[in-house]
Amino acid sequence: RIIVAGSLNADLTIYTERLPSPGETLHGHGFAVNPGGKSANQAVSAAKLGGAVTLLGAVGQDANGEMLLASTSSAGVDVSSVKRVAEPTGVAVISVDARGENSIIISAGANATLSPADMAPALFEGAGVVCLCLEVPLETVQAAAQAGHDAGATVLLNLSPYAPITTELAQLTDVLLVNSHEASEFLGGFAMPAADAPVDEWRGAIEKFAGRGLNKVLVTLGAAGSLVLDSTNSAAPVVRIAPTQVNAVDTTGAGDAFTGGVAARLAAGDTLVAAARYASVAAALATTKKGTQAAYATAAELSSAE
Ligand code: ADP
Repeated sequence: RIIVAGSLNADLTIYTERLPSPGETLHGHGFAVNPGGKSANQAVSAAKLGGAVTLLGAVGQDANGEMLLASTSSAGVDVSSVKRVAEPTGVAVISVDARGENSIIISAGANATLSPADMAPALFEGAGVVCLCLEVPLETVQAAAQAGHDAGATVLLNLSPYAPITTELAQLTDVLLVNSHEASEFLGGFAMPAADAPVDEWRGAIEKFAGRGLNKVLVTLGAAGSLVLDSTNSAAPVVRIAPTQVNAVDTTGAGDAFTGGVAARLAAGDTLVAAARYASVAAALATTKKGTQAAYATAAELSSAE
């Protein structure tokens, strides 16, 4: 079983020619309300790819909360431990301009109420993989990591949106998932090699991660693919995973599709490299359709694409 503990958000998107200046009112066009939030997305990706997933989170007693429970449960996610609270469901208010540039404001709402007390060790019994991100309070993430670790699960931490983490949380993390921007911030502004740099150039980053207690790190590089960094594998400390060539129309949520894919395949017993290869195909397919959860591939779609 996979436990995903973290955020659920309603993504409220409006389209406009250009983004407004302070004090300005513009006429936009179109409006969409879609299920989102990193943890909800990751849970849906893992479930569609065949994982048995339980989501721990919080939504409000409002229509957005109903929408999120419906979208995650219809993908097969167990939402019986998602709590309903008095605060409104978390939202991301997204403006997208004619060039595809966006500006986003997130209000955590119910997500901010997810507390260490909601991470009861009994919920983690028998878990193979625990999957976490930073859209809920850090002490809650840490409590979930501890409970997962104590249950013998593999703890995945998606360091997004970037925030500094404690040494304890780093040490409880078995696999860190970052994009190159988050990796650089985590390493204190370390200049990350170019996406196409020879693998030897990543050895410095591997040493720095290992110095922070993180031996296994997946770095996603957008259209350039991803890397598996593993300081415990002296024969192959860096494995480059080439991107799957697709016609990308919307890369929103690709990182979450990737994380969910890694969780699903690690829970099924794959090695980290095999899980990352599978997740890379899932993430690429997610970019070929608009939206996030609805765009994620099922295991059957993925095997027919390969
Ligand atoms: P994030 O959205 O978290 O920054 P990335 O942009 O790095 O994440 O994308 C995550 C993964 O999605 C990449 O490692 C890659 O496997 C896949 N991906 C993203 N964009 C493309 C693309 N244009 N073509 C193929 N795969 C892609």
